[in-house]
Amino acid sequence: MQEYLSQVVAKKYLAKDIVELSVKPVKPRAIKFRAGQFVFFRIGDAWKAYSIASPPADRHRLKFCIKLEPGGKGSEFIKNLKSGDPLEFSGPEGFFYASGLRGDYYFLASGIGVAPFASIIPDLLAKKFAGRAVLIHRDRSENGLPYAGLFRNLAAKNPAFRYVPISKKHQNLTDCLAGLGINLPKSWFYVCGGKEAVDGISQALLKMGVPEERIRTETFLYSDRRAV
Ligand SMILES: Cc1cc2nc3c(=O)[nH]c(=O)nc-3n(C[C@H](O)[C@H](O)[C@H](O)COP(=O)(O)OP(=O)(O)OC[C@H]3O[C@@H](n4cnc5c(N)ncnc54)[C@H](O)[C@@H]3O)c2cc1C
Repeated sequence: MQEYLSQVVAKKYLAKDIVELSVKPVKPRAIKFRAGQFVFFRIGDAWKAYSIASPPADRHRLKFCIKLEPGGKGSEFIKNLKSGDPLEFSGPEGFFYASGLRGDYYFLASGIGVAPFASIIPDLLAKKFAGRAVLIHRDRSENGLPYAGLFRNLAAKNPAFRYVPISKKHQNLTDCLAGLGINLPKSWFYVCGGKEAVDGISQALLKMGVPEERIRTETFLYSDRRAV
């Protein structure tokens, strides 16, 4: 696994408890990754996983979208990071990437689980894939939806892409799939978020008749490098 020394070049609050970090690899100076992968930040003696939230076309600047958990070890570290600070990370890691350019893609994000889709969707659309892509993003917090502007712009420019934000408390993410005219054998389902959300959505998809091998998941567990 490659380790990188990098520098924080920007830090922006997208909401009260959501930070976007922009990071420039310094040594080595560029990183090759697939849209949807993650890296581990070194945080003291621990390594915490964060999905890359920018497309791989820019190998010299990575973005991360991070929810600050009160009292969390990584969250406290990130809260204190400033532009110009060094940051060590290792990676890329993971298999949560679009496997080809054929078929239709349904991306289902719960809360901060939207982060990898800010990499996957712009990458897919830049490659002019042949199918349709739909992002359904639910966030029950009072924060608004991170990257709503990015996804609205992409949807306005690409008829193949539809963005469905949900902030209503009682609306189920999978209910939004009804009425989309999904061609099940041709479709892929990518689910990302906390454990409860990912498990619940996956169960609902299986009940709808989606074959297991068509469902890809990324669970944002509270864990470090040894446990992922
Ligand atoms: C593949 C992958 C990708 C990920 N990508 C992202 C991403 O893009 N963005 C993102 O925001 N997160 C992501 N995560 C989650 C991230 O890695 C962290 O787990 C998460 O941010 C919390 O880490 P932390 O160190 O801040 O909190 P932790 O220190 O792990 O604590 C988490 C919470 O639990 C509480 N807690 C800790 N210990 C205890 C205890 N003993 N008893 C009770 N409560 C306790 C803390 O107060 C805190 O609220 C990803 C995870 C994985 C596995």
